[in-house]
Amino acid sequence: MQCYSCGGEMERIKKDIEANWKGRQMIFRGLHAWVCRSCGEQVYEPEDVRLMQNLMRSVEADDDYPEIMNVQEVADLLRVSNQTVYNLARSGQLPAVKVGGREWRFRRDEVLAALSSGDQGEAACSEESIHLVARGQIKDGLSAEDEQVIKKHIEMLKDE
Ligand SMILES: [Zn+2]
Repeated sequence: MQCYSCGGEMERIKKDIEANWKGRQMIFRGLHAWVCRSCGEQVYEPEDVRLMQNLMRSVEADDDYPEIMNVQEVADLLRVSNQTVYNLARSGQLPAVKVGGREWRFRRDEVLAALSSGDQGEAACSEESIHLVARGQIKDGLSAEDEQVIKKHIEMLKDE
């Protein structure tokens, strides 16, 4: 692999990253990265970036949203319009129950589970949260192993 910055040779390494997110210290171990031998530029594997984005989004959601969410809260979480949430609920793409004949309610953990298998990854990571560079396409979806890693990290964070 060639460095996009200086054209030098890039070397594949494993790397630990520490990041502060929503006031919590997060540590990602054994991430795959490419480092340029000439200029020091670093690039992370898209799958690893995706994994971190999912993890950070889950933590963010844990902090900001209640266990049972209404349409507005889900719209905020997914960064979509209320109408989109209604459509997803009606079509069954988002797990939801109707209460009182008209009001939709969503379980936070089910929304997050739907997210990690869905295609909403783009908006996940704000610029100031953590400086990561992802080149190329981020693959859709996570493997079962990735989800285990995420769950383990979330459990660790909850224990603190
Ligand atoms: Zn370089």
